[in-house]
Amino acid sequence: MSVYYPPVEQHETVVKAALHVIQGTHYARPENPHADAEAQHGQEQLALAARALAEAVDMLPADRQPIGWVRQPCPAALLPTGSAAPVPCTALGKHGTHQTADGRKWANAEVDA
Ligand SMILES: [Zn+2]
Repeated sequence: MSVYYPPVEQHETVVKAALHVIQGTHYARPENPHADAEAQHGQEQLALAARALAEAVDMLPADRQPIGWVRQPCPAALLPTGSAAPVPCTALGKHGTHQTADGRKWANAEVDA
């Protein structure tokens, strides 16, 4: 079993950016006229750093990524009438409408009704 070691540079950048956000929110000095701009900048830097870390983790071999990193495919499938085989949903991530590879869409309510 492999262990996840974060990509050092990207991980450190996220940690530093998070500390800047905390500094700009929890420890903001009311007399600082640039406090709002600094807080906004810190939030943007955190988002950019988080994206860079996610991209770096995506590049790791699968056995070195955190457990659960790879999204599991949606278990839903479109059930055609007759004896045709179910057509799997190909939508990734959290979604409200399922979709087949050829673009047919359906919602859970339609299936459950
Ligand atoms: Zn789905």
